[in-house]
Parts: sequence; structure tokens; C-alpha cells
Amino acid sequence: MKWEENIRKVVPYVAGEQPNKPNMIKLNTNECPYPPAPGVVKLATEMNTDALRLYPDQNTTPLVEALAKYYGVKKEQVFVGVGSDDVISMAFMTFFNGDKPILFPDVTYSFYDVWADLYRIPYKTCPLDENWHIDPEDYKQPNGGVIFPNPNAPTGLFEDLSVVEEIIKANQDVIVMVDEAYVDFGGVSALPLLEKYDNLLIVQTFSKSRAMAGLRIGFCIGSEKLIKYLSDVKFSFNSYTMNLPSQVLGAEAVRDDAYFKATTAKIIATRERTKKELTELGFTFPDSKANFIFASHKTVPAREIFQALREKDIYVRHWNKARIENCLRITIGTDEEMDALIAFLKEYLKNR
Ligand SMILES: *Cc1c(COP(=O)(O)O)cnc(C)c1O
Repeated sequence: MKWEENIRKVVPYVAGEQPNKPNMIKLNTNECPYPPAPGVVKLATEMNTDALRLYPDQNTTPLVEALAKYYGVKKEQVFVGVGSDDVISMAFMTFFNGDKPILFPDVTYSFYDVWADLYRIPYKTCPLDENWHIDPEDYKQPNGGVIFPNPNAPTGLFEDLSVVEEIIKANQDVIVMVDEAYVDFGGVSALPLLEKYDNLLIVQTFSKSRAMAGLRIGFCIGSEKLIKYLSDVKFSFNSYTMNLPSQVLGAEAVRDDAYFKATTAKIIATRERTKKELTELGFTFPDSKANFIFASHKTVPAREIFQALREKDIYVRHWNKARIENCLRITIGTDEEMDALIAFLKEYLKNR
């Protein structure tokens, strides 16, 4: 068809499946196994629905103010979006407009190459080393911008801030984005580096550590100048992206710091004991600082374990991709869920 010539053709991102079975154990999309903060639940139940008649605050003021206060930055340094996917997508459109390729790791969040293709941004991947670490030397070649998650996904490995700074330092003429979707599970945020580098953008999300994947809240923090450019593009694209409930409930989640810290501490403790149990069962994995473990079994192929788990309604993530086809990404659930996973694996590996 002639009209097809002018169509923007893309291969979309494939998210982890969202099955909905009564007794399933869902460890495939890194959601939080605990409910949102009690204050959020209370506000949601008591919400004044008459307010839904009106358009929401375009500047998402309640949420931006809560985040600015929490992270000790100016509100002009905070940008909020509908999940960090929305934030990163807008940031790609705003900041990556050069002719040189943007750089990101070969094993990383698989949305980056999709956005690059969508916006026709040239890109080049830099291979992680044999221990899944980023080599900062790779990021010292000419480029149009840099993005990497820290901790990285799906490896879970955290890079020391000295490595992050080395990459930023070498890339003062482009924008460097650090995707901190998992930083609350034991990593260290690059936020303090904002004082030195006005080309740094730090992206975080409420989907994992704040138990609110369903509300779709993400944000980024950067210099006032960067945030202004980003907002200008956003307001040229769609003004009213974030709905009123998300703004109000998101702000409340930020205010309940005690609950947030308690939940993440619980997930970290469960992760550490799961590491021991998986090791005893013959799994190896990089030392995750995220809410998941990227595990390979010494003898049994990942694909087979994935299928066996799936038949028992235990969902984990597996990719048929070079370098990672023998790995399973297992989200940290509740202690009971991890007990059930480990019990199943023990039996399965014994009887195989
Ligand atoms: C989950 C995830 C995101 C996106 O999360 P949102 O739900 O859109 O906020 C972004 N980056 C990485 C590395 C992730 O794992």
C-alpha cells in the first residue's frame, strides 16, 4: 500500500506478562509485594470524587513539592511523569538530538533501544564485562548522550558513584541520564553529583520501592535549566498527563518515609536470604542491590526452569536474547512467596 511508506514503523517494547490467577506467585515485573503506605490507602478510600470534574494541576504541584522537600532540591529541579517510562521517553525526545550515537550497556533495560528507534536517535551499545559490570572507558568515545540504570537491570549490579562520576566527567558536552529505578534497595543515588554537573539527569520511579506501579508515577531531578527544557517539550506534547489521584496519592507516599524505609528494608532482608538459598540449590548470580536476582543454574537451562515454574503459576522473567538466555530474573516477593519458590525449586531440581 502506497500510504504505508509514510508511516513511522516501530517494534514495540514487550513488558513482562500480567497474568491474573487467584493463587499465582508473581515475581516477573519487579513490583512491590507489599501494599502502598497506610496514608495512601486512607486517602484513596476517602477521595473527594467531585474534584475529578476538573482538569488536574498541570504542574503536579503537590507531588513536585513533596519530592523537592524530600530530596532537598528546588521544585524547579523536579519533573514528574506518568511512570519513569514517560519521563525517560520525554527526556530522549528533549535531550538526544545530535548526530552522534547515544551510548548504553548491551545488557540493560530493553526500552532504551525502542525509544531510540522511535525517535530515530542513533545508538551504540557498550558491552558489560564478563562480570556484568560497566566499563567506564567505553563511555569515553564521541557520543550524543549517555543513559544507564544504576543498579543496572536486569543484572541488579550497582556501580560505585566513582564510576558514575567518571562517566559524567568524561561527557560534559552531552546529557547523562542515570536511571535509578532500583536505587532504594541498597544502592546510592547520584543526587549529590548534581551540585557539580548541570548535564546530569537522575530518574526514579514509584513503581518498585513505593508500591505504586498501578498509579504510574515517575520523576527526574536535574539542574533547573535541564528541567525547563524538558517541561517545554512535555507541554508541547500533552499538558495534562498526570491524573489528580496520582498527584495526591503520590505526595502522600513521599511523606510516609517510615513506611517506605520499613518496606524496602524488608525486601532487602528477603533478598539476602534468598541469595543464600539459591546458592545452596546450585544457582549463581551477580550480587544484586535491586529487588530482583538475575540467576543462572549451574546445570539446568533457564528456559526449562522458567517453564516448570510457569506451569505451577510461579512467574519469573526470561529472555531469549544473546548473553542472557541462561538467566532468570526473579523478583523478590514476600517471605512466604520466596519460601514457595525455593520449596518448588528444591523438589524440581532433585527429581529432574
Ligand atoms: C521498571 C523500570 C522503569 C520504568 O518504570 P515505570 O513503571 O515506568 O516508572 C524504568 N527503568 C528501569 C530500569 C526499570 O526497571
